[in-house]
Amino acid sequence: MQVVQKIRCPNCGSEGERHYIAQSNIIRTQCPTCDYLLVTCSDTSKVIESYAPGIDSCRLNLRSSTKLSASSVSLQSA
Ligand SMILES: [Zn+2]
Repeated sequence: MQVVQKIRCPNCGSEGERHYIAQSNIIRTQCPTCDYLLVTCSDTSKVIESYAPGIDSCRLNLRSSTKLSASSVSLQSA
């Protein structure tokens, strides 16, 4: 038996799905918007497979915006 629950994606906040697959003791969380995937074992709570494509690019964007504001500050002071 498989139960599907609507959840908020922890990666991008869009509507995702959580599948409870009782037959194999697996909980599978997935988001079609950002391709987030998390497969955990419901018995041991161990992560079997995880994939979050947005996290690295978010960090890169933060870094580049920090560089931009830092350079604009030095321009203003000079
Ligand atoms: Zn998502």
